Amino acid sequence: MVEILPAQADEAKNETAGVYAREEGRKKKAIPKGVVLDKDGKPCRSCTSFRDWAAMTEKKIASPQPKEPPSTTTAATSLPLDCPPDVETLGRSTWTLLHTIAATYPTTAPMEKQTEMKTFINIFSRVYPCWVCAEDFQRWIELPENRLLPGRQGGHLSGRASFGQWMCGAHNEVNRKLGKREFDCRRYEERWRTGWADGRCD
Ligand SMILES: Cc1cc2nc3c(=O)[nH]c(=O)nc-3n(C[C@H](O)[C@H](O)[C@H](O)COP(=O)(O)OP(=O)(O)OC[C@H]3O[C@@H](n4cnc5c(N)ncnc54)[C@H](O)[C@@H]3O)c2cc1C
Repeated sequence: MVEILPAQADEAKNETAGVYAREEGRKKKAIPKGVVLDKDGKPCRSCTSFRDWAAMTEKKIASPQPKEPPSTTTAATSLPLDCPPDVETLGRSTWTLLHTIAATYPTTAPMEKQTEMKTFINIFSRVYPCWVCAEDFQRWIELPENRLLPGRQGGHLSGRASFGQWMCGAHNEVNRKLGKREFDCRRYEERWRTGWADGRCD
């Protein structure tokens, strides 16, 4: 389930009994709790969980198949694999890409690589399709302690270890916001590069 995000806080204030009415031209529309609106006022699919989206479109969410256990903890929401991603599917795929990029970053990064990575993260933070997620991420990367400063000795971009910890911190920030358990960043390499010490990934 998607939390009501900070950007929706004002809208949430107007909420009554879990549903609020919104003026859209002359037409009033009921938007279920949890559905995030795009800046044009329409529901934002990549900002909303499939569960909340399906509640809005009044679709029944399929139960997991009895013979096939869900492959992830949230598969019970059953967004078919060939549908546009909801906020969770998009998030999981994106974190996989971001952490894999961090885990394969050079041990000691040359200046050119550091500049490239700063540019990538800045652009990423502007084009990420869930706009509420993107805006919070932009704010986080602008905090003095999180700034990516190419060339700074021991800085977040200086090499794989520090960049991985930065990425882990970025993800934990979202975990906290969503009320999820924080990841132990000491296990970062095992999770994203080497595989777990017990050998189950080998
Ligand atoms: C930049 C960004 C901002 C986002 N903002 C929002 C938001 O505002 N609202 C919203 O509803 N969703 C947001 N999401 C999506 C959200 O973070 C999750 O991806 C989504 O809720 C699915 O969560 P999950 O529990 O399946 O696992 P995910 O959080 O996607 O994690 C996938 C896997 O990564 C590993 N992991 C978890 N935490 C860490 C960590 N700190 N470091 C390294 N590995 C870790 C775990 O093994 C986990 O199974 C955002 C995603 C991104 C990429």
